Amino acid sequence: MIDFSVARRRMVEQQIIARGIDDQRVIDVMLQVPRHLFVEPGLQSHAYSDASLPIGEKQTISQPYMVAAMSAALDLQGHERILEIGTGSGYQTAILSLLAKRVYSIERISLLAGRARKVLDQLCLSNVNIKVGDGTLGWRDQAPFDGILVAAGAPDIPTEYLSQLEIGGRLVLPVGDRLQQILMRVTRQPDGSFKQEQLMGCRFVPLIGEQGWRTDNTD
Ligand code: SAM
Repeated sequence: MIDFSVARRRMVEQQIIARGIDDQRVIDVMLQVPRHLFVEPGLQSHAYSDASLPIGEKQTISQPYMVAAMSAALDLQGHERILEIGTGSGYQTAILSLLAKRVYSIERISLLAGRARKVLDQLCLSNVNIKVGDGTLGWRDQAPFDGILVAAGAPDIPTEYLSQLEIGGRLVLPVGDRLQQILMRVTRQPDGSFKQEQLMGCRFVPLIGEQGWRTDNTD
C-alpha cells in the first residue's frame, strides 16, 4: 500500500525545492493537493514520479516541476483572477485555485473537462469555473485577468491573451514548434507595453484552435 503523503513530500523535496522553486505558497499547495486523484487508478502508483502521465484523449497531466514552475512564474499573492487554458486532468487548476482568488479554466475536450470538474468538486474547490471551448480566444466576458497560464504549446503568442491581460498581469505559456517549446513569461507594463522573458525549454501537447495550431495531427 503506497503512502501518498510520503510520496508527495518526497516529490516536493526532490523535484520542486531541489530544483530551485522557493515560493513558499507554491511549495505548500504542492504538498497539499492529492495528485494521485487526478490520474487513472492504474497509474496512481506513478502519480508523484518526475514525469507527465497520460490522461486519455492523447493528452497528459503536466510534470509536477512544470506545474510548480509555471505557478511560481505567475507570482500569485492570493487576490488574483486567473485564466487557465487546457484544464486537462484539473491538477494545475487545483493548484491555482489554492493560490489565487478565482480560476477560469477552458478545456477543448469535454470528457476531460467533466472528469476534472468531478475531482475538483470532490476536493471542495469551489472557486473554479470550467468551460468547454477553444481557449485560444481566451474568455472575453471575464477579462481582464491578473494571470494567464497556458498548459499547451502555441506556435505564437495569441493576441487575445495580450488584450485580456490586466496591467501588471503575467501570461505564462510555451511557444515553439509541435515538439518543443520555450516557456515564456509576458508581463503587461504600466504603459501598456509587454515585457517578454524566456524561462526554460519545455515540451507540451499542442494548443489547438483559431489562434493556435489548426489541427491536432502531428505529421
Ligand atoms: N495542466 C494540465 C494538468 O495538470 O492536467 C495538463 C494540460 S495538458 C498538457 C493540455 C491540455 O490542453 C489538454 O487537455 C488539451 O486538450 C488542452 N487544449 C489544447 N488546445 C486547447 C484549446 N485551444 N483550448 C482549450 N484547451 C486546449
